[in-house]
Amino acid sequence: MTIRARARVFSFIIRINMAFKVAVLPGDGIGPEVTAEAVRVLKACGGDYDFQEALVGGIAWEKTGTPLPNETLDLCRTADAILMGAVGGPKYDNIQPPSLRPEIGALLALRRELELFANVRPAKTLPPLLNASPLKGDHGLIDLVVVRELTGGIYFGEPRERRENGTVAVDTCIYSRSEIERITERAFSIARARKREIVSVDKANVLETSRLWREVVTEMAGANKDVKVTHMLIDNCAMQLVRDPKQFDVILTENMFGDVLSDEASMITGSLGLLPSASLGNPRNGKPFGLYEPVHGSAPDIAGQGRANPIAAILSGAMMLRYTFNDSVNADRVEAAVEQVLGEGLRTADIFEKGTKLISTVEMGSAIAAKLA
Ligand code: NAD
Repeated sequence: MTIRARARVFSFIIRINMAFKVAVLPGDGIGPEVTAEAVRVLKACGGDYDFQEALVGGIAWEKTGTPLPNETLDLCRTADAILMGAVGGPKYDNIQPPSLRPEIGALLALRRELELFANVRPAKTLPPLLNASPLKGDHGLIDLVVVRELTGGIYFGEPRERRENGTVAVDTCIYSRSEIERITERAFSIARARKREIVSVDKANVLETSRLWREVVTEMAGANKDVKVTHMLIDNCAMQLVRDPKQFDVILTENMFGDVLSDEASMITGSLGLLPSASLGNPRNGKPFGLYEPVHGSAPDIAGQGRANPIAAILSGAMMLRYTFNDSVNADRVEAAVEQVLGEGLRTADIFEKGTKLISTVEMGSAIAAKLA
């Protein structure tokens, strides 16, 4: 081998070693279709990413007997970030035992195994789609983020059981100071990149966990005076989100309240096919680690038909650039490309309206990627 050829091989090895490793988990239903478009768009941004695909969900169960094979978990444990499609579908709903079902055995297991404690869900109306919002006119033009605690509270507390021959049911809501501190810290850093305003949502007039929540958030607000923190009760917040959603920028809340509020906020923007999310854990290799996925599920009713909207997956890729790879330049470019393509009237079936042009999943991904080339 000549010296020049050796140098080329050497620089290739260095490049591969230095590339950021992204685990790509397409999953089931429309998952593979929308994830492929997200990868296409990320590649068009030109960063140095090594995309490595692995099985997850029902398809993984079919091929290996488990929805989260060890090889997949190992890849996720060593990756810088994870880009996921969706898991589940009717044909996997009756798998026994239930712990092998995709949603429990893959999705919840990944959150638990990787300690993904912060769920970040932006809800931003895209101006070309304002008509799709159930709120009238400019009222539905929102840009907010829900920061939801994801691995504590009533969804994980023990005991959870039936008593007295099944006639009494018990769930336990439990939060520790450290769990509240780490999610609040995350909300502060997200708020600092936005308007520096947080509304912390709880039920402190009734629940002990909420009283601790408010106590900790208030203490931390005192030590982070550059961010304005106010408190709101969950029932009032649910109402205010419909009455005047523009008053919110960052909403910080616990697991169950966040589950409900993030769905409510996201519907204001109009369509499920547009909404990205991030589930963030502790930093890895000096960078915030996260799993990025669309909010929607595997949509088995339209899988394989080229009708899925890939925008939620593509915007999840933009979140990955922004949060894990600190690349807000390319994240902004991807978001702008999405708005540009929608502004030109291109639409997948879910957002199609008279006077616009109906295109397929691949055509939408390609059109967005072309804006970045
Ligand atoms: P869903 O989000 O898959 O679909 C709801 C409706 O929205 C369907 O009519 C679907 O066609 C439409 N839709 C969803 N995403 C779309 C997109 N990108 N483009 C166009 N239309 C889209 O919810 P579901 O039907 O309740 O659930 C289907 C399966 O997905 C279930 O097995 C469920 O457990 C699973 N699920 C998985 C996740 C996940 O992997 N994170 C989340 C939610 C649901």
